[in-house]
Amino acid sequence: MARQIVPMTDEALEKILRSALVAAGASKFWHVVAKLKNERVNPDRGKKMLFKWHVIRMAYQRQKGICSICRDDMALDRSKIEGDHFDPNLTEEQGLNKLDNCRAVHVKCNREKGSKTPSEVAKWKGKTLVEVLGDES
Ligand SMILES: [Zn+2]
Repeated sequence: MARQIVPMTDEALEKILRSALVAAGASKFWHVVAKLKNERVNPDRGKKMLFKWHVIRMAYQRQKGICSICRDDMALDRSKIEGDHFDPNLTEEQGLNKLDNCRAVHVKCNREKGSKTPSEVAKWKGKTLVEVLGDES
């Protein structure tokens, strides 16, 4: 389940940085810049990001079989469903791969999300860009 990493264009990066500055204010700006750099250089930061099937199945039941991304029904089929991390910035000790950090989604929906920019993901998740990038300051 390797994530495909698409290099960011300078134009896209500038757009993100501008919206980050507006969303976060100057005080958090450099924190966000550091986060973005980290995302680009090493998206998974060497962490093991994988949900066990029983965790995905529990998330599936909690969502009543509805995909968190497209809101359509999902068949309980291991080849078509996977877990998506609410907060990919958690450590394993903080529960990176636990149920509380898992939402069940279609594999195809998650692949589409993988090609989105952070600001598009934020829009999709109904979160601010800063929330998506992780606000730890
Ligand atoms: Zn879906």
